[in-house]
Amino acid sequence: MADENGTTFNDLFKAYPMPMWVYDLDTLAFLAVNTAAIVHYGFSEAEFLALTIADLRPPEELPKLFANLRHAPLDTLEKSGTWRHRKKDGTLIDVEITSHPLQFNGHACKFVLAHDVTERVEAHRKIARLNRVYALLSGINSAIVRIRERNALFKEACRLATVEGGFVAASIDMAELEGLENIVSAGVALPQRPPHTEHEWIAARAVQARHPVICNVVAFDPSMAAFRDHMAPRGLRAAAAFPLQVGQRVVAVLTLVSETPGVFDAEELKILNEIAGDLSFALLFLDREEQLSYLAYYDVMTALPNRRRFQDRLTQLLHAGADGFVAVVLINLDRFAHLNDTMGRHAGDALLVQIARRLGHSLPDSYNVARIGGDTFALSLAHLSGPEQAAEVLHEQVFSALDLPFMLDDQEVRISTRAGLATYPGDGGDAETLFKHAEAALKNAKSSGQRYLYYAPRMNAALAARVALENELQLAIEERQFEMYYQPRVDLHSGRVVSAEALIRWNHPQRGMISPLEFIGLSEETGLIRPIGAWVIEDVCAQQGSWRRAGIEIVPVAINLSAVQCVQSELLNQIAIAMAENGLERNFIEFELTETAVMNNPDEAARNLNGLKALGVQLSLDDFGTGYSSLAQLKRFPFDFVKIDRSFIAGIDSNPEDEAIAAAIIAMAHSLGLKVVAEGVETEAQLAALRALRCDEMQGFLFSKPLPAHEFMALVQNQHRPREGGGL
Ligand code: C2E
Ligand code: MG
Ligand code: MG
Repeated sequence: MADENGTTFNDLFKAYPMPMWVYDLDTLAFLAVNTAAIVHYGFSEAEFLALTIADLRPPEELPKLFANLRHAPLDTLEKSGTWRHRKKDGTLIDVEITSHPLQFNGHACKFVLAHDVTERVEAHRKIARLNRVYALLSGINSAIVRIRERNALFKEACRLATVEGGFVAASIDMAELEGLENIVSAGVALPQRPPHTEHEWIAARAVQARHPVICNVVAFDPSMAAFRDHMAPRGLRAAAAFPLQVGQRVVAVLTLVSETPGVFDAEELKILNEIAGDLSFALLFLDREEQLSYLAYYDVMTALPNRRRFQDRLTQLLHAGADGFVAVVLINLDRFAHLNDTMGRHAGDALLVQIARRLGHSLPDSYNVARIGGDTFALSLAHLSGPEQAAEVLHEQVFSALDLPFMLDDQEVRISTRAGLATYPGDGGDAETLFKHAEAALKNAKSSGQRYLYYAPRMNAALAARVALENELQLAIEERQFEMYYQPRVDLHSGRVVSAEALIRWNHPQRGMISPLEFIGLSEETGLIRPIGAWVIEDVCAQQGSWRRAGIEIVPVAINLSAVQCVQSELLNQIAIAMAENGLERNFIEFELTETAVMNNPDEAARNLNGLKALGVQLSLDDFGTGYSSLAQLKRFPFDFVKIDRSFIAGIDSNPEDEAIAAAIIAMAHSLGLKVVAEGVETEAQLAALRALRCDEMQGFLFSKPLPAHEFMALVQNQHRPREGGGL
């Protein structure tokens, strides 16, 4: 560029194979460019000379450029490092700049040599990026070893992908039947997917395809059209989704998003696929872990919780601040080893499974059921009103379910079970103590031959009395210590005995006559009511039959049926046979059922009552007014009589409320075509009130107490004789 030898130098300058130029340090305008620069950058010489050096830079490089211009030394060769330049077509290149200041036509200028190092920088960048992905791989692998819980592992994987792996966003979704369910994500938020675009999302496509789906330039990929508006402004420029598989099944999908278009090249994908493979392997292994933990907490044969799980849940229950009492009940099978020996282990196993199922069905969910050992099951009963309620549940829901026969190898098998109970808070404040005490109680029950025992001696005293009574009742049944009494029912119009109620008495060898109020409840709970009830039916029918055969004019007799009897399928047969054997027509036997017996199980009761009705007998609804049902509700049952409970009759002449209730019952019953019997009439005043209310019949001490059979018969026969002004 010297004035005289310009040609030579200019030729040299122009022909130099690397881009070179001279620019004015004041105006930054190009003063000269060589051919290599023209070719490399794509501008013509004229275009170049119309530019400033600022025009070669992407905007983000300008601040650095101006700062450099201010501070650059003006007299020495300068290597100012690597810069980003923009070619005419917009392509960015990395350029290493070497410059030297010089004076040109009196202007301060710089002579610049631009060495395109894009490839080298790119290679570095790639190594750095691959290093990050390798770091990600190793981070994830160490997480896999460290973390045993699936979601925690996923969370860490996403975190590592954004922090170590340099991805702007990472997420893992579970592949459910209904679609993707996002479990974790990190970094920039990924697009929301309304249901109609969900299947277009890259992760959904990867699940569908069962192999990775790569989108290297989101901006140009038509399959990403639905998400571009969300992704572009957030720098989400390239995305890839990797299915995580356990065996053939895609369980989850890992999505990675980068701000660098084209980032997912072969080398990077190789590592990312490896990561996906490792995560898949971890899933398989976590699956097994879950299975292992299932084994640690559940009994495989019955699928019930095991002892450990039972105690855990009990602890939780107690910690949650159990309201009311809690009982731990352990139930053991008698002679299970014997059953295994005689019928084979498979039968034993089948029995355990059936027991587990029955316990599961008969108990509410809140009562935890577990199998805690070979032939021992455990229950925890929560929200009890008192310790004694545990025994009720045991009888009504556990023993009643387990006492029914089981089918093993087409054979009906009955088992006997024993139980031990410990209650919170009385017998212990923590799961372990309660459990230990229930075990002790079970052991006592087994050694003493009791069906069940509480841990607390106090509870056992009450229990012992019950057990004694139960044993005595059992004996009473065998020795026929019962006797039927008969209480006449009187028609209020004619004043005649029109029928009677049969009432059981227990003629105890030591204690004398015992009222049914003392033993009917227990016999219902223990199931002894079945043989007792059967005896009542037989005895009453036999008595009526023998009076008949003796030529005595008999009246119908009503037998009380308990709720427990009413769910017995053989009841109707029993009755029909007893009546037939004693030659009794249907109008000589009647039945009484209480409202609660009917309403406990209305469908079953309706079936049984209709069955009884089909035998042609009359039915009474007993103790009406003590339950909560209305007469209208009871209309569906085929009753002929309503018996107003004694409690309303007592005050009928003195208490307006009782009178109103009795009046309403009588009016309602009449409108439904039912006759009304007043129970427990003791005074003339009560009788007068009942008459005024048009009650149909009465029963009570005023006319007669329940009488032994012969006395009752004497009374009935007496009234058939010509009257001497007696009666009502
Ligand atoms: P229930 O069926 O309501 O029988 C009427 C009860 O009232 C009888 O008591 C009877 O003695 C009593 N009673 C009758 N008139 C009067 C009176 O004027 N004043 C008073 N204070 N009481 C009177 P009982 O015999 O003690 O029977 C009590 C309950 O036991 C019966 O009530 C019935 O539910 C049940 N029961 C009695 N015998 C049997 C039976 O054979 N089988 C069943 N399942 N239950 C029976
Ligand atoms: Mg009755
Ligand atoms: Mg009654």
